[in-house]
Amino acid sequence: MAKTPHKLLVLSTPVGPLGTGLGGGVELTLFNMAQVLEQRGYSLTVLAPQGSKLPPLAIDTLPGALQDTAQSQGRQTPITLPPQSVLAAMCETARQRQSQFDAIVNFAYDWLPFFLTPFFEIPIFHFVSMGSLNDGMDEVVQKAVQSHPQRVTFYTRTQAATFGLDDHQGLYIPSGLDLSLYDFCDRPGTPLAWVGRIAPEKGLEDAVAAIGETGDEMTVWGVMQCPDYWDEIRQRYPQAKVTYGGFLPTEALQTALGQCRGLVMTSKWVEAFGNVAIEALACGVPVVSYRRGGPAEIIRDGETGWLVDPDSVAGLVAGIEKLPQLSRLACRQQAEAEYSLAAMGDRLEQWLSQSSPTQELCH
Ligand code: UDP
Repeated sequence: MAKTPHKLLVLSTPVGPLGTGLGGGVELTLFNMAQVLEQRGYSLTVLAPQGSKLPPLAIDTLPGALQDTAQSQGRQTPITLPPQSVLAAMCETARQRQSQFDAIVNFAYDWLPFFLTPFFEIPIFHFVSMGSLNDGMDEVVQKAVQSHPQRVTFYTRTQAATFGLDDHQGLYIPSGLDLSLYDFCDRPGTPLAWVGRIAPEKGLEDAVAAIGETGDEMTVWGVMQCPDYWDEIRQRYPQAKVTYGGFLPTEALQTALGQCRGLVMTSKWVEAFGNVAIEALACGVPVVSYRRGGPAEIIRDGETGWLVDPDSVAGLVAGIEKLPQLSRLACRQQAEAEYSLAAMGDRLEQWLSQSSPTQELCH
């Protein structure tokens, strides 16, 4: 049986420097993975775009042009790389340095590292961080799964199914959190929270429409990825009591989020996971979400949140009104039982140890 790789070269997302939030939830997932694996004796070298900062993580930064985000592309959009591509530089560096490592762990949701799977001399493990968005990307993900199913992981089954991989034989790795960084808050204020990149796939307009009906106040935290989208929502719902709280580091975010009586999640796409859902639960904050994608696998309907019909503002309103029925302690307890860093570490170690060719032949 092959030995578990312990010296890992990690490829970060090429859509933004780590720490800016442009990469979305994958930044937190990568950070938490690095923390827990380092605690368990692995050594990690992270390659990421210039400007990346995520202390105490040591990062080797590379200059170069960022990739466009996959969600801004169409299904048929050809795969592109800009001149001076940072993703190409990351892959080239991985090729040059591969003999110093046991394996590569790829967090880039992009065509090139998947395509290069058979070109590397050491194993490459892929952590797929989004659902299916582009046909060319689907092809290379499916190919990587066909050749080494155990080396490709998804957050959730719903996410894998978007690639037509309903019967994926590899492991699923839901995210995990360092729960010591998230305080349980049993005495919230009255406002609601909405947390995420401010971008159309997140459906912020539905949450704003819902609070327009319930009369609640709501604070929005996250990277202002599409300012025009935000302005358009503000103009459409001028009476809604919505405030933008900025993009906060985890410590400040969890304090502010913990003081809210509920988190509203309104994704229009199949959210691969939804880190903000487990961050809310960790603070004792129940979640009202569309029954779609990752949040539908995370939230226990009627216990730690309310799952409502996708795209139904009336459903959101009903869920918000029923928030007082839920126990905040149950939310924290679910986070502790299912989404601890230790639980994530166990899943990651299992993933990295399952790479022997013999096991793969079984599938
Ligand atoms: N986030 C943050 N500060 C903020 C708002 C959001 O650090 O003020 C982070 C949050 O912790 C989460 C990420 O932004 O890790 C959003 O990730 P999610 O998986 O919910 O969605 P994605 O952006 O990947 O679609």
